Amino acid sequence: MKRLVLKFGGTSVGTVEKIKKVANIIKKRHSEGNEIIVVVSAMSGATNELVKKSNLISKNFDEKELDSLLSSGEQVSSSLLSGAILDLGIKARSWLGWQIPILTNDNHNSSQIIKIKTDEILGFISNGGVAVIAGFQGISMENRITTLGRGGSDLSAVAIAKFFQTDSCEIYTDVEGVLTTDPAINDKAKKIDKISYEEMLEMASLGAKVMQPSAVQSSMIDNIPIHVRSTFSEKSGTKIISESEIDHKKAVTGIAYSKNNAKVSIVGVVDKPGVAADVFEPIGKNNINIDMVIQNTSLDGKTANITFTIKEEDLKKTLDLIEKNKQKINYNKVTHDDKLAKVSIIGAGMIASPGVTHKMFRALADEKINILAISTSEIKISVLVREDLIQKAVKVLHKTFELN
Ligand code: ADP
Ligand code: ASP
Ligand code: MG
Repeated sequence: MKRLVLKFGGTSVGTVEKIKKVANIIKKRHSEGNEIIVVVSAMSGATNELVKKSNLISKNFDEKELDSLLSSGEQVSSSLLSGAILDLGIKARSWLGWQIPILTNDNHNSSQIIKIKTDEILGFISNGGVAVIAGFQGISMENRITTLGRGGSDLSAVAIAKFFQTDSCEIYTDVEGVLTTDPAINDKAKKIDKISYEEMLEMASLGAKVMQPSAVQSSMIDNIPIHVRSTFSEKSGTKIISESEIDHKKAVTGIAYSKNNAKVSIVGVVDKPGVAADVFEPIGKNNINIDMVIQNTSLDGKTANITFTIKEEDLKKTLDLIEKNKQKINYNKVTHDDKLAKVSIIGAGMIASPGVTHKMFRALADEKINILAISTSEIKISVLVREDLIQKAVKVLHKTFELN
């Protein structure tokens, strides 16, 4: 007998018909003699609708109330799914985060899980019941409902796999597995059979929505293998496992992109120690994430230009902070651009394949795509381009690195 955690995403439970289909998958896995814990997301679109409503009330909607509101989508889907399983004649029960409880810190809207109490659910599944847990939510020490960041049911599943010591952690979704790129943008995307935690973490952080970055990070830390697979086909899916189990045949494993990036350049700052700290300190203190950073010095070495990227939604606040800080930073002028995208190639095989960088830049140049900024790590290269060029860039890179 095995103990399994099966997570079903919003697209897998998007309609009543789909919920019935999911209940049948669970029935099959249960009839094979497994102990089953199910984690479920809200029906697709439900969480976005709740976000929209809160925005209509206030642009600064209280973060604790927002968590209480957003977690309600999973109350609907977990009870509907549990009802569908009961209807197939199988013992089932739904649990909300606070009922278990799933204890988190009070970092509202992107909380971390500290501990999950297991005894009640272990008793239930060992007596043949299917436990259906509402994903994405927990409860803080202050007795307030928390959520784990958008896409956070993936993280719920990984944490449940850890605390319940399950034999597998299966993420059921609307695509066949992790693909070489987003199939919504390139129909030549191919399924990846095995990917390392490190590569998946880069893919997810750089925009591949199929797994939540924090979930991948947790699975990497606790060495929990993940199996990403389709709710709508029996195909084998993707295994996310440790690097040592993978033989990299290609330099690039996948391509990701993210939209809604903005670029800010501070021109003519005096080039002396401490300037970069003065620029970025107030921005960081306001919880704005800086992504790419480029600094270049003028020919006479007296001034420098500092360019960096942020999320578009943070642009106005960032410009205000720089303006406020003008006395201290002492610059000539500030320019900015929005509607930019980051397109990234990712692959641990890059380490052993020289020439990947120029191949990427040449392929983009041949398509007349202008690169606005670059950042690299050992296993990824990212470029900033205009948002309307995403598809063209992804397609040419996909072909260039033999992923088609
Ligand atoms: P779920 O509702 O199951 O949580 P998500 O919508 O969060 O599913 O993630 C699945 C979606 O991620 C796919 O429909 C696909 O469009 C998108 N996606 C982006 N990049 C990738 C990729 N590299 N591989 C697979 N899917 C991707
Ligand atoms: N329902 C939540 C969201 O839309 C969590 C999830 O889908 O994983 O972000
Ligand atoms: Mg998701």
